[in-house]
Amino acid sequence: MAAPIGILGGTFDPIHYGHLRLAQEVADKLRLAEVRFMPSGTPPHRSSPGAPAEDRLAMVQLGVTGNSLFTVDPHETLRSGPGYTVDTLTAMRAELGPAQSLVLLLGADAFLELATWSRWHQLFTLAHVAVAYRPGFPVDTWQSRMPQPLAAEYNARLMRQPLGVHTASAGGIVVVPIAALDISATLIRDAMRAGSNPRYLLPDQIIKYIQEHSLYNGN
Ligand code: ATP
Repeated sequence: MAAPIGILGGTFDPIHYGHLRLAQEVADKLRLAEVRFMPSGTPPHRSSPGAPAEDRLAMVQLGVTGNSLFTVDPHETLRSGPGYTVDTLTAMRAELGPAQSLVLLLGADAFLELATWSRWHQLFTLAHVAVAYRPGFPVDTWQSRMPQPLAAEYNARLMRQPLGVHTASAGGIVVVPIAALDISATLIRDAMRAGSNPRYLLPDQIIKYIQEHSLYNGN
């Protein structure tokens, strides 16, 4: 079976080292062939003055440059209307066939929200889910924070052997501990609006892009 392909969706408003380390560490630990970054379109529930979809996409492209494991899929970014992950995965599955293992990468905070996603049970028929721990979600308490339907899926699908994502093409949940980087896009936007220097939270070339395009300086 071909090595699994990872998918990392997000707003990436902007992409930062938390995202890049998540992708790198999960790719290493699960021996993924590739991680596809999928910036969302303009989500209807986000009203904060973030960057336009085209700029978020351009920043993700800059962020992955130089890493041969990382690619960018602009599918969701450029379409109008809400893009649901389940539809994106269905299209990928149709393109790649039933044998290709797919792994949806999620931070633990995003995983806890999974039961609010459109047709979320169906996600497991299309891909595995890899949950990466990030700061604030200690391993011993997070299970108690899962809503019941999610806990049921978690208990039924948890694979103790993470490399199990190589032997089935979808349906498992794996938990991958990653280095805790307490960085969020919100922190970066707030820092930039307050005029403080965001260096070392995200790549320099993205800071340059933000400055050249006058992003995140509104109130
Ligand atoms: P915001 O602060 O705007 O909510 P964010 O920094 O959390 O944004 P998203 O684009 O919402 O970034 O996140 C995309 C994915 O990356 C999610 O699965 C999220 O859990 C994960 N992620 C974001 N920041 C980190 C981090 N510092 N460490 C590990 N995972 C992260």
